[in-house]
Amino acid sequence: MRPSESFDRLRWQMVVQQIETRNISNPAVLEAMRTIPRHLFVPQKYQQHAYEDRPILIGKQQTISQPYIVALMTDLLRLRGDEMVLEIGTGSGYQAAVLATMVRHVYTIERHPELARRAALTLHALDFNNVTVLEGDGSRGWPEFAPYEAIMVTAAAPKAPQPLLDQLALGGRMVLPVGVRGKQYLEVWTHDEEGHHSEMVVPVSFVPLVGEYGFEENEQEAQ
Ligand code: SAM
Repeated sequence: MRPSESFDRLRWQMVVQQIETRNISNPAVLEAMRTIPRHLFVPQKYQQHAYEDRPILIGKQQTISQPYIVALMTDLLRLRGDEMVLEIGTGSGYQAAVLATMVRHVYTIERHPELARRAALTLHALDFNNVTVLEGDGSRGWPEFAPYEAIMVTAAAPKAPQPLLDQLALGGRMVLPVGVRGKQYLEVWTHDEEGHHSEMVVPVSFVPLVGEYGFEENEQEAQ
């Protein structure tokens, strides 16, 4: 068996055993996760572990999220296919790739230049032409391309950053972990004529969002 065939098999098993069994049935999410080679987004020494039911270290004390959490957060955005999406926390670029198969364009921001560069190279090598990787403090959002129909934050914030709420389009949805270090809830925010509304979904544990509208730098550490 060629190595890529064994990764294909592991990827199918990941979708069946970790995602479908946890009641994610959105066909576009399942298809994206069945086809995107997640092992190419992790350091080579961890490639054999890429399809396991857990996050994996990607350098700079940061992680690529557990596959189920990627699926759940993507599903919670209720994407239709024509959205401009903002992701905060590019990390490996894997979540951006999943989103990119489902929407018009993904702008994704990473604060660590080295991770941003590596993610951009991976996405380019895999022909994801509708992803723009930006370097900087994503807690401020990226007003230049706003408003966004969907926003996903893949690092934990003490509260929903106001600039991100301001950059969420009318009718848009934002998903992010909110809480203290090591312990947060996924929140889904919506924006309608009456304002912004939020609901808590499930408990999660993410690395911190570090920046002006996140945690302070010295509070940073992988969870
Ligand atoms: N979505 C990523 C993936 O698919 O690999 C995983 C994200 S990892 C859990 C969180 C990322 O958020 C880290 O790469 C971290 O450096 C980044 N981050 C933390 N604070 C940030 C900020 N203010 N702006 C942009 N990125 C930030």
